[in-house]
Amino acid sequence: MLQLKNIKKDYPAGSNTVHALKGIDLRFRKSEFVSVLGPSGCGKTTMLNIIGGLDQYTEGDLVINGRSTKNFKDRDWDAYRNHSIGFVFQSYNLIPHQSVLTNVELALTLSGVSKSERRARAKKALEAVGLGDQLRKKPGEMSGGQMQRVAIARALVNNPDIILADEPTGALDTETSVQVMEILKEISKDRLIIMVTHNPELAEKYSTRIIRMLDGVITGDSMPLTDEEIAASEPKEEKKSKKREKKPSMSIFTSFGLSLKNLISKKGRTLLTSFAGSIGIIGIALIYAVSNGLTDYINAVQEETLSSYPLTIEESHTDLTTVMETFMGAAESSGDHENDAVYSQEVIYNMLEALSNLDMTENDLKSFNEYVLDEYKKEGSPLSEAINGIQYTYNLDMQVYTENIDGEIILSDNQALMKEMIGEYFGTDMSAMMGMYDSMGETSTVMGMMGSGRVMWQEMLPGLDGESFSPLIEKQYEVIYGDWPKEYNEVVLVVNENNELDDLTLYALGLESKEDIDAIVDAAKNKESLDHELRSWSYEDICGMEFRVVLPSSCYTLDEKSGLYTDLRETQAGLRYLYDNGIDLRISGIIRPAEDSVSSMLTGAVAYTNALTQYVVDQANNADSVTAQLENENVDIFTGLP
Ligand code: ADP
Ligand code: MG
Repeated sequence: MLQLKNIKKDYPAGSNTVHALKGIDLRFRKSEFVSVLGPSGCGKTTMLNIIGGLDQYTEGDLVINGRSTKNFKDRDWDAYRNHSIGFVFQSYNLIPHQSVLTNVELALTLSGVSKSERRARAKKALEAVGLGDQLRKKPGEMSGGQMQRVAIARALVNNPDIILADEPTGALDTETSVQVMEILKEISKDRLIIMVTHNPELAEKYSTRIIRMLDGVITGDSMPLTDEEIAASEPKEEKKSKKREKKPSMSIFTSFGLSLKNLISKKGRTLLTSFAGSIGIIGIALIYAVSNGLTDYINAVQEETLSSYPLTIEESHTDLTTVMETFMGAAESSGDHENDAVYSQEVIYNMLEALSNLDMTENDLKSFNEYVLDEYKKEGSPLSEAINGIQYTYNLDMQVYTENIDGEIILSDNQALMKEMIGEYFGTDMSAMMGMYDSMGETSTVMGMMGSGRVMWQEMLPGLDGESFSPLIEKQYEVIYGDWPKEYNEVVLVVNENNELDDLTLYALGLESKEDIDAIVDAAKNKESLDHELRSWSYEDICGMEFRVVLPSSCYTLDEKSGLYTDLRETQAGLRYLYDNGIDLRISGIIRPAEDSVSSMLTGAVAYTNALTQYVVDQANNADSVTAQLENENVDIFTGLP
């Protein structure tokens, strides 16, 4: 309900003041058709503008649905005007070069309504005023009565509670005036219409209530609200006030969806990693900064957490923010056309342009690594104090196989197994997701954030003085069985504080049979409950497991007949051969995070030392296939093609 309380409006006019409204008290019903009559200059337009929020009152209060507007901010007025009020003017105020449909639609563009719904609602409003067959016409091709009907449709399209009409028939002949009045009468059935008019006959015939004004005051009201109506309207006024206030929204997800594909692609992976990394370190910094004000503690935490979220410098780097911004904008509509046919939107070009303009920085990691190491060794260098460890990561693609309890040779990789399982569980149409898993798995940070899918075999941070693993690791972990690795082929198993490993990892370690895993998958698939049997393995059993590293380079042997190198992994027999000749790995011990350690840097389940990495690199450098390819740079040794 709408109420004017002692509304006054003064206009400064030179040295004088014009008192356009001198204290208006009025209440309006939720739905009625009110006509305002009065001579020119008596303040009708001023009152209408104040009711519609187009003009500010000098004194008094305008109460909207029980809410005073005295403390309204600009955005409150905006929301009120956009969602509660529809205006109809004597002069139509239509945009001449736009079609009738577009004119009506434009009133909706700011209200957070989708394009298709805008169109549908505009059509409906035009049909309601009898112009459903004139959507394509320009205002100039219409009569005055028709234009005023377009203006009414435009006022209606937001489905406002109140329609304000200032002399809507002022420029129309009697016959067309009657048509417009009929329409207004019709729509006043479920909303409030306040109409200023000079025509007492029309007011008499069509409206339900007539208010007369003279010189800024109300002089007559044919049907003021009764005391009962006032009492009935008061209590439940509050509720409705924000009904239609929807924030204008843009569909950024449309463009984001298009960009996602690219983000997952190789270039995008770097972005995801740096993004995830920054969340990690900022999150941790925040949590600790808020909950602990102790500098010493923060320093200790920083040292230790930086070990699990180290400063990472990659071969190539891309600035994430600019890329996201470009992607968001790439699918934006140019919108510079009539909406009368199907138009093309430039996405491919914008997308590719955004991608090719990515600001990729290439880093010379080798020189940087040498420089940092030199600085570390220099006496008194600030870097030597700041550095706890340096790890130079290669794209090794370490392939570890094991013979599981079923006697089968399996790739000891929980991510590969997870991928397989997802495929089995969801069917083949999950290939897209598997692809995503694949690309993320390689960097591991993103999946790591999600709490699963960590790289299972992980190199430990090497020591700075030639140790194959850093003393920092010995500070963070305690040995619960066996010993730290001493030889290049010795690894440690990493369990959590409660001596646990997840079942997928256990399967990948060869300790769970395929049958057990299948039972779990089946139970999940059929939504059956699972018998939670507590299973355990002795330290000795686990340390007795055998693992073999199969070097990618040694998977290929020369086929004498074709002269090409073929992949031995393709057959079980070949796999068996590779396994038997692989690098033998031994679990030398089991470690878990030390009790007093704030952070533990290892995220994998099995940790190997830098000595193994060095060994694998040396082996690869000397492999037949690598030598063969290097000797014959112009021919692909796998296909024989240039
Ligand atoms: P009506 O619509 O009933 O013809 P208005 O509300 O337009 O009357 O005007 C009421 C009085 O206020 C008139 O005296 C008019 O001159 C004055 N007035 C209206 N708008 C302004 C303004 N923006 N600045 C100064 N005086 C104004
Ligand atoms: Mg006027």
